[in-house]
Amino acid sequence: MNHFKKNALSRIIAYFSMEIAVDERIPTYSGGLGVLAGDTLNAAAAVGFSMVGVSLLYRKGYFFQRIDEKGIQREEPVEWIVDDFLVEQTPRVKIQLENREVTIRAWLYEVKHNDHTVPVYFLDTDLAENDPYDRTLSGFLYGGDERYRLCQEAVLGIGGVKMLRALGYEKIDRFHMNEGHSSLLTLELLREQMAAVGHEQASWEDIEAVRSLCVFTTHTPVASGHDKFPLGLVKQVLPFFPVHGELRDIFCCGDFLNMTYLALNLSHYINGVAKRHSEVSRMLFSHYEIDAITNGVHVPSWLSSPIQKLFDKYIPRWKEDIFSIRYAISIPLKEIWEAHLINKRLLLDFVNREKNMGMDIDNFTIGFARRMTAYKRPELIFTPLERLNAIARSVGPIQLIFAGKAHPKDEEGKKIIQRIHAIRPSLVPEIKLVFLENYDLALAKRIVAGVDLWLNNPKPPFEASGTSGMKAAINGVPSLSVLDGWWIEGCIEGTTGWSIGMDVFQLQEAKEGDYSNERDAMALYDKLEKVIMPIFYKNPEAYALIMRSCIAINGSFFNAQRMFMQYVLKAYY
Ligand SMILES: *Cc1c(COP(=O)(O)O)cnc(C)c1O
Repeated sequence: MNHFKKNALSRIIAYFSMEIAVDERIPTYSGGLGVLAGDTLNAAAAVGFSMVGVSLLYRKGYFFQRIDEKGIQREEPVEWIVDDFLVEQTPRVKIQLENREVTIRAWLYEVKHNDHTVPVYFLDTDLAENDPYDRTLSGFLYGGDERYRLCQEAVLGIGGVKMLRALGYEKIDRFHMNEGHSSLLTLELLREQMAAVGHEQASWEDIEAVRSLCVFTTHTPVASGHDKFPLGLVKQVLPFFPVHGELRDIFCCGDFLNMTYLALNLSHYINGVAKRHSEVSRMLFSHYEIDAITNGVHVPSWLSSPIQKLFDKYIPRWKEDIFSIRYAISIPLKEIWEAHLINKRLLLDFVNREKNMGMDIDNFTIGFARRMTAYKRPELIFTPLERLNAIARSVGPIQLIFAGKAHPKDEEGKKIIQRIHAIRPSLVPEIKLVFLENYDLALAKRIVAGVDLWLNNPKPPFEASGTSGMKAAINGVPSLSVLDGWWIEGCIEGTTGWSIGMDVFQLQEAKEGDYSNERDAMALYDKLEKVIMPIFYKNPEAYALIMRSCIAINGSFFNAQRMFMQYVLKAYY
């Protein structure tokens, strides 16, 4: 082993995330952020890197989504048996919340590849010795009020560092904050630093020592994605929080604790999750250097088995060298198409069995599944419905498969689900529309591989990266997407998929009024009607060629191993 590799592999990285999706049976995630965290830990295990994950245990999950015939979402606690999947660890640590001591325990999950293991610890406060309120902190992900969230984030950040020490991790080379929720970990690192050098008051050198340990990834330009807490509440919940003194501005943002600014101030390396997202983040946070590492998906987790069989046949050792997926370009088109039909059959059988839809394998099938919220514009393809109806009549039948949860407090998101349900009676018989309940890892895996086209039309510039289109690409499913997030990098028009509406340069030049939902919808319809559906219905070989290019060109790059190696070079080393 060469010197660099040996050196790199001896480093230990602690990866903190409010949500981590490592197993479809463990409901400790809500969506993209958690999936990315899980894929990152998997990539670390696959390349043999020493990483340890830290998150919270949610005994009731995010929520189980039920939708009635009117499209009304009901949220139920997820029922799951923690010790079926996780192993209780012996150490206990304590943190102070308000005037109480809260005891924390950890549960272990091991991410394994070949003979390498990456441990993930889920922190839990549901212990008999804790106050009843504190026991509820390992209840719901993104539930409760401000106080509940702040307490959870203290358990994650402060409790997480303490737990790692108690578990025997004395030397940790980097603390990676995956989004700002965990940034209270910097306070605990500062306390450790001050104790080590015998300081009563923190000095600039102490701050620098913490900064040299921390890296931060920001994941969204949407304001609600950046937690902030009024200092009054912070002072109550965390009586030791430094709201006075010379270093105040490092910790406080006016009258608030802003978790994003705390992470920005105390990290020496900061990145956004796609090139465009970093540019947008540099505008939002203009005093910071913000690099870009574009997201990727862990290929073995997202690859359907028919496509995996083709990889095994035509690209031996693809798992060892992820870039060799590029050579998918020599897989015979016929075999790509046949593998796709197996995936499509599986998905449509599932839809037909669950929802009695009678969807047909010969018909053009579009997937749209992600969090149901306004900026993702799930209804764009129905704006106006007459145009969609006309396209299905003139070019060919369309099958639409939707899925996604709305956050329990996102009233608009919930209304979107209702309105999509209400559209059904106004569709011509050539269009079939289904909304599948409870979007999760397992359902995502079915949908991304089984549709003919992956649709994504968020309002720019709010999609930081987006990853579900990458999951589709690795399975040979092209995207039709607005040029935002990863798609600016991934779209080669007509080769890996198609764009909707303005490109980045046009968006930057655009004046008030140039940009509208109606214009984007028009562009979407034009692409479907004049470009994509004619290829699908009249020239399947050309469609298979695009599918193959998706795998070779985008699958070989937008994967978690490439992403992880960039983190090693830029952030961990
Ligand atoms: C990948 C994934 C997401 C993220 O999808 P985006 O397109 O990035 O918004 C959300 N939920 C689940 C279950 C996923 O697998």
